[in-house]
Amino acid sequence: MISLRSFFLQHVAQTSDSPLGLEVKRAEGVYIYDTNDKPYLDLISGISVSSIGHCNPLVVKAIQEQSEKYLHLMVYGEYVQAPQVEYAVALTELLPESLSQVYFVNSGSEANEGALKLAKRYTGRTELVGFDKAYHGSTHGALSMMGDEGFKNAFRPLLPAVRHLPFNNIEALQQITSRTAGVLIEPIQGEAGAIVPDREFLVALRRRCNEVGALLIFDEVQTGFGRTGNLFAFQKFGVVPDVITIAKGMGGGMPLGAFISSAEVMGCLKTNPILGHITTFGGHPVSCAAAKANLQFIVEENLVETVCEKELVFRSLLQHPLIKEVRGSGLLLAVELGDAGLVQATIRKCLNRGVIADWFLFCDTALRIAPPLIITEEQIHEACKAILLSLDELLD
Ligand code: PMP
Repeated sequence: MISLRSFFLQHVAQTSDSPLGLEVKRAEGVYIYDTNDKPYLDLISGISVSSIGHCNPLVVKAIQEQSEKYLHLMVYGEYVQAPQVEYAVALTELLPESLSQVYFVNSGSEANEGALKLAKRYTGRTELVGFDKAYHGSTHGALSMMGDEGFKNAFRPLLPAVRHLPFNNIEALQQITSRTAGVLIEPIQGEAGAIVPDREFLVALRRRCNEVGALLIFDEVQTGFGRTGNLFAFQKFGVVPDVITIAKGMGGGMPLGAFISSAEVMGCLKTNPILGHITTFGGHPVSCAAAKANLQFIVEENLVETVCEKELVFRSLLQHPLIKEVRGSGLLLAVELGDAGLVQATIRKCLNRGVIADWFLFCDTALRIAPPLIITEEQIHEACKAILLSLDELLD
């Protein structure tokens, strides 16, 4: 009999020659179960998505209820759909007054595409600024902003007039000028390996964007919804951007993204040309209903407040001769081993022990720790024990 795995390799397009290949039966809370009902403690949350746990009952209920009322009705922006409106109100109530209008899309890449177009349209300028080792998505515009040549080269030509600056370097900010339409930055870099900048850098960036009239766009696709110990990472630094982009942990496991700005800035997408940015499925009612339940759970459970305590537990337990450093913020942590082979071997050993870890796209020498935010202290102990035992076996 041909296995599901071989059909997966034959008929589902692959992104690499080495997929993890876990055959999943179901998932609940912080655990994913394989077809033999073996539980795996999920330390990566589908890459920072399942923050409130897999199949959170509130989200499942919201999906069920909305799916019995209506699914897709019309391209985004035409009809008044309660799940979109109610969610936009609930979310913007938690944001500064200047971030009051939500443009719904389907993913993080699309959120960044929209934000980049918004900056060009609002300023009437063409130049865009990004940062080294930034990840913003795989579509052409988002890829143009990626700060890694190796991943970009094969797909050129990309967007012209994109300049990359070193991250966390205040002097380089002078290269943002009155020709710059927008600056796109992750307030804490994810795929670079959980890199936290100095507050002064983001303050200086805000000041420079104000000086030259460029829009400051924070990509909070990975850092949003409590991941780094604040609801959004910009709140940690006290620096308010002109636009934020969100996705991943937004939909409680459903696909949803958005870019958010002021009514004044966002208004320019309505005219010259009319329908300057459109999407068929953006803000799908079922995804918005799930996102509303997701946000309600995060707020009512005070989930964000628990994240920093959990970070401390990870940091206190993750001590080993092979661990050079633990970086990051909240539950977006990088365990630096300084060697890519060691990271891969640790990931494999952890998987055998029933713990799912991963690496970072631009930092293959560090283990990624980004579990569902609902992880308990006991489960953190379980996860760290598996990592430390795996590292013990790799000591020579
Ligand atoms: N921005 C950041 C910071 C991300 O981490 C990611 C995904 N890893 C994206 C954008 C792209 O999101 P998506 O895969 O939903 O398009």
